[in-house]
Amino acid sequence: NYILGIETSCDETAAAIVKNGKEIIANVVASQIDSHKRFGGVVPEVASRHHVEQITMVLEETFKKADMTWKQIDAVAVTEGPGLVGALLVGVNAAKALAFAKQKPLVGVHHIAGHIYANRFEREFEFPLLALIVSGGHTELVLMKEHGSYELIGETRDDAAGEAYDKVARVLELPYPGGPQIDRLAAEGEESIDFPRAWLDKDSFDFSFSGLKSSVINKTHNAAQRGENLDKHDIAASFQASVVDVLITKTWKAAEKYHVKQVIVAGGVAANQGLRQALTEKFKRTGIPLLVPPLKLCTDNAAMIAAAGFVSYKQGKRSGWDLNANPSLVLQ
Ligand code: ATP
Ligand code: MG
Ligand code: FE
Repeated sequence: NYILGIETSCDETAAAIVKNGKEIIANVVASQIDSHKRFGGVVPEVASRHHVEQITMVLEETFKKADMTWKQIDAVAVTEGPGLVGALLVGVNAAKALAFAKQKPLVGVHHIAGHIYANRFEREFEFPLLALIVSGGHTELVLMKEHGSYELIGETRDDAAGEAYDKVARVLELPYPGGPQIDRLAAEGEESIDFPRAWLDKDSFDFSFSGLKSSVINKTHNAAQRGENLDKHDIAASFQASVVDVLITKTWKAAEKYHVKQVIVAGGVAANQGLRQALTEKFKRTGIPLLVPPLKLCTDNAAMIAAAGFVSYKQGKRSGWDLNANPSLVLQ
């Protein structure tokens, strides 16, 4: 089966064609980063307008790259939420119009299910598996006992990991998006500054990053008031060490508790070199197979949406013509 995927939940306009949920035929992503950079973050109205301008071209490019026609497409999968409502609406309406006109089944997909299924391009899933989701808006541990089933066992109580990266980057006056910038600086810094780690209650798989963020802000400002300048590389390295330490410890504990057969990492922060390295080392020793998507599939794309959509399609799930954007859609 060939699934056309469409993704417009945030600031990338993306389309892809995927075969049987695990083979990418074409994957096109038009990023808007340059337009949002001067505002230091994603501006919703700007995002929506870009999606409208880009979506037709991105779809044409996808079919061209795949060298395929609509005849060969079995279903259209689209991100219905969560995300920015105005941004989501562009993808949802494009998917509805096209699926209706071409008489193809329509499948709404949860954006985070997409991030999880980016791992299926690497290797076939084995259940039960544990997914660590670390993105711009989410930090969660999800237990999957079968395809398309998601059990939330822990989540952030305040900021998402990617959000913390972006906010700390702003304090350090680095350009948007901050995650990759901090990653780069951290590689050359020393973990010389003692930042807190939020373990929360014993046995809790929840996360919290707002205390860490505040600590970075306070230490930076206090040093500046004393006329000192903390080295940005060291701040980045110390901040990243705190994030990675908590993420890895909790993921490993959950993996043991639920006796999972695989651990997978998903979302934009899965592109982080420090996190990838530390996870790889940790899980090499435990013997639990670890899956991490290739870098370009960590951040938003439509191949992952088509891969998750394929599973729903095979399970007989269909969306109606009343499918709507749902900015607060729950993963279930
Ligand atoms: P969500 O998926 O929760 O709806 P989103 O789609 O905006 O949010 P993604 O596109 O999955 O988020 O990921 C973007 C986030 O990943 C940003 O916060 C960005 O700073 C972060 N990120 C990207 N690369 C890296 C990196 N190398 N190190 C740390 N963070 C990174
Ligand atoms: Mg993005
Ligand atoms: Fe995302």
